[in-house]
Amino acid sequence: MSRTDDNSIAIPLPPPVTFVMERLEASGFHAYAVGGCVRDALMGRIPGDYDVTTDARPEEMQHIFADCRVVETGLKHGTLTVVRDGMNVETTTYRIDGGYADGRHPDAVTFTDRLADDLCRRDFTINAMAWAPGQGIVDLFGGEEDLRAKRIRCVGRASDRFSEDGLRILRALRFASVLGFACDEECRAAVTDGMHLLDRISRERIYAELTKLLGGVGAARILGEYAPVIAHVLPPLAEEDVRRASTVFARMTADLPTAVRYAVLLDALDTETAAKAMDTLKPSKDEKRAVLSLLSRRETVDTGSYGVKCLMRDAGDAFPAVWASFAFLTGRIDAAGAAAVRRAADEILAADECRNLGGLAIDGRDLALRGFTGPAIGETLAALLDAVMRGKIPNERDALLANREAGHG
Ligand code: ATP
Ligand code: MG
Repeated sequence: MSRTDDNSIAIPLPPPVTFVMERLEASGFHAYAVGGCVRDALMGRIPGDYDVTTDARPEEMQHIFADCRVVETGLKHGTLTVVRDGMNVETTTYRIDGGYADGRHPDAVTFTDRLADDLCRRDFTINAMAWAPGQGIVDLFGGEEDLRAKRIRCVGRASDRFSEDGLRILRALRFASVLGFACDEECRAAVTDGMHLLDRISRERIYAELTKLLGGVGAARILGEYAPVIAHVLPPLAEEDVRRASTVFARMTADLPTAVRYAVLLDALDTETAAKAMDTLKPSKDEKRAVLSLLSRRETVDTGSYGVKCLMRDAGDAFPAVWASFAFLTGRIDAAGAAAVRRAADEILAADECRNLGGLAIDGRDLALRGFTGPAIGETLAALLDAVMRGKIPNERDALLANREAGHG
């Protein structure tokens, strides 16, 4: 982004976005980049995606982009996604959202010819700016000033906007966390007063916002300030638990994966209860497993080679480093312990030491050929693997087969 002499701002748009906007203009319509991409560009951040808003109606857009690859799934709500050079440009007709009887979906959307109406329906002032080359920034609600002040402020009355769509409560906290901003006084009060409005929002959408919130630079501060809201979406977590987690977040580095963040947040719960709390958010199987792998192993602390091999056996070669970060952050091991785990993991991998059944020099068939059946096969393999990991038996066929009876049971 740069400013020219007359103080207008040039936002660099990727060629696919420029293509879409120029096509619309050439067909006699207006087109603006809008929302998150304008906000990010003004902050000097690289936008994750680009949205275009236009007075062209959906059927006009279909006509204008008839020769392009498009996705029409959002057409009912005015969105045609134009796919160009592998980039999705979501192009949406200016619209007004009708009432929100259910507190999460507009009852009906109405298309409009006025950009101002479209900007009005957006959640926060910093998300309600549009930009077009030649036109410059259209900022009807003071978004630029709020960006400078690092402030999350609703477009219109905060309590009304949250009643329309409860998800905005968590979006406010998410943007505050990710951008390092603070909610203005009105927004802050409405977030706390309105947290029950989140009860009507789908758990998947809550999970998506919460995950971004936990990854933000301001996560520790937001967890501390809005502990009741976070506790509200993750029962049976208590406000106190969230506040305690907030102090751990304050020591977190930016590179730590999502699983560590959720594990820290849920650390006050026993593993079974944490699993239930995770389930309510509907994470994917892998996401849930990653968090529970940490929580279920939080009290077994062995920073030696055998302990690290167990971590690898149970949760994969990359796991010990993640576990070490979590255990260190939560005070279960000290810096020397964390370094020892990482070093042991490096050595195990460098020497390709046996650490899982796949690496064992015999397999189930070898035992089946020698009269083992049913669960005895798995139990014997597991016991032999354990003996190898402890260095009691070399990982060699003859040695393993010679010890097969000792390993049994
Ligand atoms: P990012 O994509 O970086 O997460 P964003 O601001 O682009 O952030 P999106 O969810 O992609 O967020 O939404 C795009 C724009 O649509 C927002 O900037 C905002 O103007 C508007 N918007 C999205 N969700 C809502 C909502 N629940 N209520 C009102 N406006 C919304
Ligand atoms: Mg976006």
